[in-house]
Amino acid sequence: MEKITPNDIRYSDLAGKRFNKRFAGKPEYIRLPETIKDVVEAVQEAVDSKRRPVVRSGGHCLEGFVSDPIVQVLIDLSLMTGVYYDAERAAFAVEAGATVGEMYRRLFLGWGVVLPAGEHPGIGVGGHILGGAFGFLCREYGLAADYLYGIELVAVDASGKAYSVIATREENDPNRELLWAHTGGGGGNFGIVTRYWLRSPDSDGTDPSTALPKAPASITTFRVAWDWKDFDASTFSRLVQNFGTWSLQHSDPSSPSIQLFSILFLNHRNLGKIEIKGISTGGNASRLIDEHLAAIAAPIGLPYNLKIEESSWLRFALNPFPELFQPGFDNVQAKVKDAFFRRPFTDSQIATAYKYLTAEVGIGGVLGMATYGGKVNTVLPDATASAQRDCILDVACNTGWIDPAGAEPSMNWVRNFYKDLFPDSGGVPVPNEQTDGSMINHPDTDHASPEWNQSGVPWYTLYYKEAYPRLQQVKAKWDPLNIFYHALSIRAEK
Ligand SMILES: Cc1cc2nc3c(=O)[nH]c(=O)nc-3n(C[C@H](O)[C@H](O)[C@H](O)COP(=O)(O)OP(=O)(O)OC[C@H]3O[C@@H](n4cnc5c(N)ncnc54)[C@H](O)[C@@H]3O)c2cc1C
Repeated sequence: MEKITPNDIRYSDLAGKRFNKRFAGKPEYIRLPETIKDVVEAVQEAVDSKRRPVVRSGGHCLEGFVSDPIVQVLIDLSLMTGVYYDAERAAFAVEAGATVGEMYRRLFLGWGVVLPAGEHPGIGVGGHILGGAFGFLCREYGLAADYLYGIELVAVDASGKAYSVIATREENDPNRELLWAHTGGGGGNFGIVTRYWLRSPDSDGTDPSTALPKAPASITTFRVAWDWKDFDASTFSRLVQNFGTWSLQHSDPSSPSIQLFSILFLNHRNLGKIEIKGISTGGNASRLIDEHLAAIAAPIGLPYNLKIEESSWLRFALNPFPELFQPGFDNVQAKVKDAFFRRPFTDSQIATAYKYLTAEVGIGGVLGMATYGGKVNTVLPDATASAQRDCILDVACNTGWIDPAGAEPSMNWVRNFYKDLFPDSGGVPVPNEQTDGSMINHPDTDHASPEWNQSGVPWYTLYYKEAYPRLQQVKAKWDPLNIFYHALSIRAEK
């Protein structure tokens, strides 16, 4: 396995493979392993030479955990992309370098099944599944991590020796805690996952076509768009209230509406429109969409455009809502600040949102509200390391810019907006009756900053709640030398 150094023609391409251009690294060299043996060797060499290694799969990290100037060795799993049914383990094996889109494609074409995972097909499976992983089908089928049967990991022991280990969720597996830590602990913590095995919790996996949920027979997408100019504070408030109320009333796993998932895009007024984009599966899709819009859009009495389309699951999954992922999308510098909600926005939070979304400032930004719950909320909080199991919404304040001059106003806007949404809890969504922390797949280093988190609740409680001490034990056992770390990694010490 070669070392790819800066004078190799592949270096700049590989160094540039990252979604968030807010960060840039400059590793001394990059390794492109093709087998687990290659990964063990690459890690061993980095440890022996006292260089700091970091793993990358899809390059969609939202913070600078991979693209970090102090990283010396980048281990990129782009060539480890196998997706197949492993009869011996009675589960689907997905190598960590596969993208979510490639996983969807292979699972659908091979067996007509699906793993409910993230929305953007370019995300890497490697850094995604172990952070919980929600997406378009989460209300119907839960999180990707809920299907995790096993992992293959390259770790480093206390003597500095790199080795590979397999952990499964079998009751008698001595490595079961290691598997548990990968059901929501997040990337870059314990070692390098080279392969995941996936299977529905209630399946013995002997029939591959029932080992994961059947893919939807079709997907009905809907897009609603209002002209921002038509809104005032009162109609804006009613729209956000309606969306929150619908989410509260339809997050129960027994609700037929778990076959519907939507996102309210409260764009900054500079962007001209407020939108809802969503999907529904199954024979009742049209009725579910009608009911959704009757509860949310119709009562505010403003004209809107509605576009409904039907597509196969695969066609949709490989290019969902193309207008979201347009040219330029992969050239953006972005900041995402995430919050789980158990209850709808309060009136004062809606007023804060209106203030920031209509502020006279030259930025592009959005407050996105995604419906949540359903099947996600059937799993006990400690059964996986994804602890938030009674939420109704996942909300994110997002901004992005391409011109460097956009950095300061955009960052100021998004940070202050988010902080002002939680004035009674130190600027962050602490676990309480209304909010429940944040999602580690949307990491935000501000949670570890006393300037932006004045709640007294540490960043790790916001992400992991009561799971953190257990994750610390796993860290102490499986990465005793703390070879794998970043700004929000799990620390073994108390
Ligand atoms: C456009 C976009 C859309 C997104 N949509 C969703 C969504 O719908 N749902 C959702 O849940 N999340 C979503 N995310 C967040 C995404 O799940 C995380 O950013 C995820 O960590 C990306 O994984 P990656 O392999 O692409 O990233 P990378 O940048 O390669 O890695 C991210 C982190 O995981 C670590 N890591 C990577 N590979 C491994 C491995 N094999 N073993 C151990 N650690 C590893 C890295 O070191 C790093 O710390 C989205 C992100 C973006 C940018």
